[in-house]
Amino acid sequence: MSDEKRDYYEVLGVDRSAGEREIKSAYRKLALRYHPDKNPGDKTAEEKFKEASEAYAVLADPDKRATYDRFGHQGLGGANFDPFAGFGFGGADFGDFFNQVFGEFFGGGRGRGRGRGQRGSDLRYNLTIEFKEAAFGCKKELTIPRLEPCEACGGSGAKAGTSPQTCPSCNGLGEVRLTQGFFSIVRPCPSCGGSGRHIATPCPECAGRGRREVTRTLVVDIPAGVSDATRIRMSGAGEPGLQGGPPGDLFVVLAVEPHPIFERDDNDVVCELPISFPQAALGAELQVPTLDGMEPIKIPAGTQNGKVIKLRGKGVPMLHRDRRGDQLVRVVVETPTKLNAEQRALLEKFAEISGDAISPASKSFFDKVRELFE
Ligand SMILES: [Zn+2]
Ligand SMILES: [Zn+2]
Repeated sequence: MSDEKRDYYEVLGVDRSAGEREIKSAYRKLALRYHPDKNPGDKTAEEKFKEASEAYAVLADPDKRATYDRFGHQGLGGANFDPFAGFGFGGADFGDFFNQVFGEFFGGGRGRGRGRGQRGSDLRYNLTIEFKEAAFGCKKELTIPRLEPCEACGGSGAKAGTSPQTCPSCNGLGEVRLTQGFFSIVRPCPSCGGSGRHIATPCPECAGRGRREVTRTLVVDIPAGVSDATRIRMSGAGEPGLQGGPPGDLFVVLAVEPHPIFERDDNDVVCELPISFPQAALGAELQVPTLDGMEPIKIPAGTQNGKVIKLRGKGVPMLHRDRRGDQLVRVVVETPTKLNAEQRALLEKFAEISGDAISPASKSFFDKVRELFE
């Protein structure tokens, strides 16, 4: 990230007066878009993801937000500021931060008292897929980072055979108060990084962190015909159990991206087809986009605006069934605008020779009106 930090509100694209929910929803959108899982190897996306996460970590915390509103980036400690510090847990830990924002855990959750042989927590993974992927199914690779206690030191962070001491700089509090002029801010203790403990000889396996990030890769098979908010359960792919307990499950929750042309109506695909006034009157053979590519469609002569033409079997496959919905093409007749002199003259001539026969529905409508009011 460059030295010149962008304004956090600008990063999230929200107003300075934005409420908690608006901020959260703006962040979710950005995080889903730039999540490293969706953009493997894309450094720009990764930077954007981090930038948005940092902005959210500050704006979601009323104290940090107030400080930021008054003093800007400088108020939060400038370049050395660690936005994830103190986000409901000791020390800077992006994984936990991320889990918290995305509500990784259905019920239960980390840190609650657990008995012997306890089942691991269920995990939730929000996955965005494209319209066509939802229609025809796809395989997706999921990268799931999680933190596991370091085996070498049993999670203490101190080299095997030694144990951590209370941090002398903060007396174990994990934070220090800095007073600058008329205001003071609390920052994580720089000596112990907020843990409150001093480790004389760090465990070489985990560099004293006590935990190690382990990344798992899983492939989820998404069947044809899924829709927005479909949940796919992957048995046993959640958090590992404790003391020999079974693992939890992983729930993949799908979000289907909107399509620029198509809309879903259950298993039918709906789209609009703009046609010209002469095409509607005279009839036409046109090409219309479908999930399978361009298909010919016949517009009968005298087609009215709003008419729906059905293409059988061109919709979305039905989930776990060997059938497909239909494509519904709604015709939109466009009235010509910006007529030139010749076109205008021809249309006027057309109207003149047509008389009442030009619009049968309109004629019968005005006949009824006449009966009612005369
Ligand atoms: Zn260790
Ligand atoms: Zn300390």
